[in-house]
Amino acid sequence: MILPKFEFHEPTSISDACELMARHRGEARLLAGGTDLLVNMKKKVLNPKRLVSLGRIPELTQVERSNGTLWIGAGATVSAIAASAMVARDASALGLGARALGTPLIRNLATIGGNIGSARPAADLPPALIVYGAVLVLRSVAGERRLPIGEFFKGPGLTAAHEDELIAAVVIQVPAGYAGAGYLNLGVRKAQDCNIVNVASYLELDGRAEVIRAARVALGSVGPTPLRSPSAEAVLIGQKPTEALFDLAADAAQRDCMPILDFRGSAEYRRDMVGVLARRTLTMALAEARSRN
Ligand SMILES: Cc1cc2nc3c(=O)[nH]c(=O)nc-3n(C[C@H](O)[C@H](O)[C@H](O)COP(=O)(O)OP(=O)(O)OC[C@H]3O[C@@H](n4cnc5c(N)ncnc54)[C@H](O)[C@@H]3O)c2cc1C
Repeated sequence: MILPKFEFHEPTSISDACELMARHRGEARLLAGGTDLLVNMKKKVLNPKRLVSLGRIPELTQVERSNGTLWIGAGATVSAIAASAMVARDASALGLGARALGTPLIRNLATIGGNIGSARPAADLPPALIVYGAVLVLRSVAGERRLPIGEFFKGPGLTAAHEDELIAAVVIQVPAGYAGAGYLNLGVRKAQDCNIVNVASYLELDGRAEVIRAARVALGSVGPTPLRSPSAEAVLIGQKPTEALFDLAADAAQRDCMPILDFRGSAEYRRDMVGVLARRTLTMALAEARSRN
């Protein structure tokens, strides 16, 4: 399979990239690592006339922490996120998602912006980003706007970004106090495969009484977009964290998913695995929250 013909642009700043996307609105597509886009172009699923590469924009690759906020440039590679001590400490579930994604070769090219921009329901990074309440910094010639990641996904391959807009960064308010998170994914194989189910959970405890103050559970691969589980969250909030409570939350998460059947697994299997992964990621989140005590 060979790539179709296209014009190639290599801006060196975010504003130049925005300028190009506005000038060629409707016929240009952003290219980051290319691990999703170039595959789709080879398969003739997509045929953009122009590619605007983000690979020569240093400001897109910054990963830094300031004033309690983790700023991850959209061009940060999945390898960089997987290896970051800052991410491991402040957003451990995101680090786990990064380490679960693809293979070393894919992780070296793939970016966080591309993982979000591709809007695949089974993508590895969105569930953790959702439970951390991450906000996307979107840039265009019109300026900057910020959008909670939960409002970004509109369907498989569909997003709330305007045609000329790019994700410049992902911002996470670093959880303070007794908070923890977990992420797990399940595929037919350990790597190089699409997830059957992937789940992230987040818990924030009231330090003294060990009551759950905030809870977020996000389910991947079991709907047209990554989903929050409001029923599981409602079961958890205000309660003491126990195994029995996590069983109830896992049952509730199963009710909130809308799994499809395909060659990787039946809808029933996926629903069962949502329960298993929800319970396990809640246990991981609790262990991390308690370790901050
Ligand atoms: C063999 C193989 C294994 C894979 N395994 C996994 C896996 O285990 N888990 C997983 O989640 N994914 C997997 N993928 C899919 C892919 O690697 C990831 O989604 C990756 O993160 C995409 O990032 P990228 O930088 O390569 O994006 P690209 O391919 O460059 O772009 C993907 C899409 O996002 C858009 N985009 C890119 N950057 C931005 C931006 N800054 N703002 C707005 N839109 C943008 C592009 O226009 C395009 O539509 C795999 C792919 C392959 C080929």
